[in-house]
Amino acid sequence: MSQKISGVKGMNDLLPPTSAVWQYVEKKARQMFDSFGYLEIRTPVLEDTALFVRSVGEETDIVGKEMYTFQDKAGRSLSLRPEGTAPAVRAYIEHAVHNLEPLTRWFYLGPMFRYERMKTGRYRQFFQAGAEAYGAKEPAQDVELMDMAMQFFRAIELPGVSLEINSLGDDACRPAYLSALNAYFSGHSAQLCDDCRARLQRNPLRILDCKNPQCQQLAKGAPAMLDLLCPACRAHFDEVKAKLDALEIPYRVNPRIVRGLDYYTRTAFEFLAADPVLGTAGAVGGGGRYDKLIASLGGPDIPGIGFALGLDRLCLLVAQGNRNLGKAPILFVAIVDPGSQAVAMKLISGLRRQGFAVDFDTRGGSLKSQMKRADKSGERFAVVLGEDEVSKGRARLKPMQGGEPRSVALDELSSLLKNLA
Ligand code: AMP
Repeated sequence: MSQKISGVKGMNDLLPPTSAVWQYVEKKARQMFDSFGYLEIRTPVLEDTALFVRSVGEETDIVGKEMYTFQDKAGRSLSLRPEGTAPAVRAYIEHAVHNLEPLTRWFYLGPMFRYERMKTGRYRQFFQAGAEAYGAKEPAQDVELMDMAMQFFRAIELPGVSLEINSLGDDACRPAYLSALNAYFSGHSAQLCDDCRARLQRNPLRILDCKNPQCQQLAKGAPAMLDLLCPACRAHFDEVKAKLDALEIPYRVNPRIVRGLDYYTRTAFEFLAADPVLGTAGAVGGGGRYDKLIASLGGPDIPGIGFALGLDRLCLLVAQGNRNLGKAPILFVAIVDPGSQAVAMKLISGLRRQGFAVDFDTRGGSLKSQMKRADKSGERFAVVLGEDEVSKGRARLKPMQGGEPRSVALDELSSLLKNLA
């Protein structure tokens, strides 16, 4: 016997009925983006490796150890995208979109790839719904994005999601903060993990989101960026908070949020789901401002801000709510005898062309087994075709949830279904 081949570790198959949960969540995400005027962008899953090295940053876990990187047949180094912002910014620059409009709002939905250690809700192929806005440096843009995500959580009936915000400063105030961090961690370097000792010189900010418990403990006593913000960054942060208050969006200021990528400036935020299934890591999304990223990737000096929501975790939470999201076809067509199959298929094809969802057992089989399938699938009606009745252009319509079957004319079935739907 030939050997069985399994799927790639950390990459999930998505089967029914779980796929119905995903369809529901993705549909709600698209509706949300639509209602805020964000348009869809689709970029390839593969990019030049340099794109992520230069944007996400060499020192980050993502680029340092989690990227799927390989050489193609021409010897180019390519990587499966670990996140959606850098590809969107690359496309924005490449297509000179800033020449077409001063303010661009995009969204994306799709798979991302990171070679991570797996646990519940953490995979190597995972899906994100993200939004990006280019051209607005104003706090109103930050708040619009947070409002959009919070409205989405409400739309998918996850009320327990909280918003945490921080400011990471900018070129004016960050260097002094990095020196303060460096001084603090240098005093405790013996307690840092090996990775963090290396980060100490190159990028001490990364130590703040190291997952090592001892580093996390040390990080608790580290200086906070919020205490060292320059006046412009302070004013920006204060206005973000005031605008969140005005929209009555609850939030908590959390000076520990640094986000795992290098390109953030000023506002950084995370969405946390209060659910035990996720264990300690309850983040269902996060984002931030990246006012220098577009210029640093060779584009014009245009500010940007975005967020990414983790659909795998959100779908897990929605599925826990045990809502019946799968939608069965309205009608099952059964045949009493093989001779009725041709009429049945013609009838079904006509109904489907009119947009009705119809189920049919292509294997034929006994009426009993067909009805068993109809029962299981959850259709609301069954039409049973028997030779006698078919010869008179009629069939039996049976409500599946109980009720008397009745005889109906086949050519009246579609108008009947329209009224029943
Ligand atoms: P990040 O930009 O890394 O903060 O990712 C944003 C969101 O995507 C996170 O809050 C998670 O919900 C989700 N996410 C990130 N990495 C993974 C992963 N490996 N598996 C599943 N979801 C993830």
